[in-house]
Amino acid sequence: MGCNAERVAEVLRAGGATVAEHKAELIELDRAIGDADHGENLDRGFAAVLTALDGGLPETPGAVLKVAATTLISKVGGAAGPLYGTAFLRAATKLGDASELDAAAVAAGLRAALDGVVARGKAEVGDATMVDALAPAVDAAERAQSDGGDPAAVLAAAADAAKEGADSTVPLTARKGRASYLGERSVGHADPGATSTALLLRAFAESAR
Ligand code: ADP
Ligand code: MG
Repeated sequence: MGCNAERVAEVLRAGGATVAEHKAELIELDRAIGDADHGENLDRGFAAVLTALDGGLPETPGAVLKVAATTLISKVGGAAGPLYGTAFLRAATKLGDASELDAAAVAAGLRAALDGVVARGKAEVGDATMVDALAPAVDAAERAQSDGGDPAAVLAAAADAAKEGADSTVPLTARKGRASYLGERSVGHADPGATSTALLLRAFAESAR
């Protein structure tokens, strides 16, 4: 079954709900190695995305993601807003004006999102950023898609890999963003952006089921 604009909006609503639910946890992660604003930033951004979607549903999945992108870019400050905004914008562009997404489109959208984050933030796997969650998620999504998975299975594979990737940031020294100012003192903490990426993908996967 393909995902139309309405389903994609539901998936984003589930993402907003999970960000609200985990806001305090994300704030604490960012307090340890940053400035304690990641949970607040994302929650404000996703709340604005949901408000924008409540105001009228665009016709295609790509247009829904574009609303999310432009809202996140305009409402969320710091590093994560532009990075998440770029991720959604690149995915939206990749999906074009397709009216429904199949598994291949979901995997391609995720790949485009990762490429956008890397182009903008220049982080590599191992730098302890959201890329450590998103990069393995994209690889897993592509494997699930080539194994014949449906969109929900592709997102579930992405979510599992993202969670492992987020956990893998704990022993790493942060090399990008605010946490990198701490040098080796960033070791021992999960990266907030990698954690929010894993939480979002889990919510997207569960909502797509
Ligand atoms: P800020 O660091 O400006 O306070 P946030 O706290 O909202 O912004 O987001 C911090 C997260 O942004 C980090 O945990 C990390 O995952 C992500 N991040 C920061 N810089 C980069 C980068 N150059 N590339 C990828 N992700 C990054
Ligand atoms: Mg911060």
